[in-house]
Amino acid sequence: MLRGEVKGIPTERRIDKRVMDQMYEEGFLYMKYGAYARRTHGCKIFKVPMNAGFTCPNWDGRLSSDGCIYCPDFARQFTYESFRRVITKDIREQVEDQIDYYKRKGAGEKALVYIAFGTNTYKPLNELKRIYDATLDHPDVIGLTIGTRPDCVPREVLDLLGSYVNEGYEIWLELGQQSVHYHTEERTNRQHGLAECIRTIKECHKRGILSLVFLILGLPYETPSEMIETARVISEIKADAVKIYPLLVMKGTRLAREYETGGYRPISMTEYASLVADFLEHLSPYVLIQRISKDCGLDGKVVPEWDTHRFIVGPRVEKILMIRGTKQGAKYKMGLDVEELKPISAGVTASDVL
Ligand code: SF4
Repeated sequence: MLRGEVKGIPTERRIDKRVMDQMYEEGFLYMKYGAYARRTHGCKIFKVPMNAGFTCPNWDGRLSSDGCIYCPDFARQFTYESFRRVITKDIREQVEDQIDYYKRKGAGEKALVYIAFGTNTYKPLNELKRIYDATLDHPDVIGLTIGTRPDCVPREVLDLLGSYVNEGYEIWLELGQQSVHYHTEERTNRQHGLAECIRTIKECHKRGILSLVFLILGLPYETPSEMIETARVISEIKADAVKIYPLLVMKGTRLAREYETGGYRPISMTEYASLVADFLEHLSPYVLIQRISKDCGLDGKVVPEWDTHRFIVGPRVEKILMIRGTKQGAKYKMGLDVEELKPISAGVTASDVL
């Protein structure tokens, strides 16, 4: 790529709220990333999953050897069907092959390379640069979207990613946070808290890197109010996007053992759809929704038994929002408004002043 040539949306422009306002006026009930990206890029963008051989500090003993309790052994072999064809190829070949494959399927015109398997910032800096440079070296690639842990993005890596932003690439960090509640992080063996997520998103903002947070709804260790609080915190730390999933029990995980011994009851589709609707209502209207459920990498799923495909879950959520007469952000509120700064004095009831 020529230096200075703009390939994607220069990320310093960040999220375009005018486009979002227009989408709400058109009747969108939540901020669907695909529709938003089409409008802002002027063409259809697709993600190209690839494997660059990353592991995870929560598997290899650096933080722990057990992984998160829902992370299956076989997750360590990438599970997208389209991906298995190319898993042994080198990075440039993978990108080329995947772009051809997705374009033939009519997925779109320009690609974001999605490095999704493992913790994709967990290698020495020179190796990261070699991998990222190779993935960006294709005329249809407008940028990178990198799945990682919020505690595994040191300043030098952020600077490297920021340098791609300066070259005009669109760079996303997809942070596996899952919950903002520390007791959940401990219970699920994530080996990090919320502070790392706050810090990494702040550092992304400084460099024009876009941030996405993965979140699980329906964790058995959390109340519905705590899940709503997650939406509020994510809004306030100004993540650009979220991917929301139900908790999946996969074969061979510690969670599967908990389930088998009766320690965990999976959430029903009705409960999940209702939780997602609650979550969206309390989320800022300006957070993009990249996923609303889980519909890939499902080989080895034990429960839930219902079909978690987004084409099934999405319409259910929209129906709930329609029935309630709400939409994303409808209940997003951070404390009292200025009009509400009316102290309740003696002899005056709340209803007199509100
Ligand atoms: S951080 Fe991600 S890859 Fe690592 S153990 Fe947890 S779920 Fe698996």
